[in-house]
Amino acid sequence: MAIVIARKVCAAVTAMAARQAPEECCGLLLGRAGTVTRAIPAANVHPHPHAFFFIAPEVLLAVQRSARARGLEVLGCYHSHPQGPPEPSAADRAMAAADGAVWAIAGRSAEGGWTLRAWRARAGGFDPLPLQGFDR
Ligand SMILES: [Zn+2]
Repeated sequence: MAIVIARKVCAAVTAMAARQAPEECCGLLLGRAGTVTRAIPAANVHPHPHAFFFIAPEVLLAVQRSARARGLEVLGCYHSHPQGPPEPSAADRAMAAADGAVWAIAGRSAEGGWTLRAWRARAGGFDPLPLQGFDR
């Protein structure tokens, strides 16, 4: 199954990745029924933000609450790899839970630009998720 992410969300995430470099940016993906319509930026509170990210649990909780109040759900999260490809790192795999969350990672393309790829979390790792854009 593919994940559908609004093109404006893909553009917003890669723009945040570029702005935040050389530190990793991060945030949450909101939507419903497998379609991401919104990216909510969060502070990267990891002590080593150049190579890792961490979203404070109270931020996650607050975003979950406000999403529910608007009839949306938190479908997953996004973060960036300022120096590397948009593939899960060992640290990312260690954080992956068997919750089926969508992880979007903005990283460097072979040409040196930014590109976004999506992954589905499972216990101890990720499965690649075909990413489909849509305009709205
Ligand atoms: Zn990562």
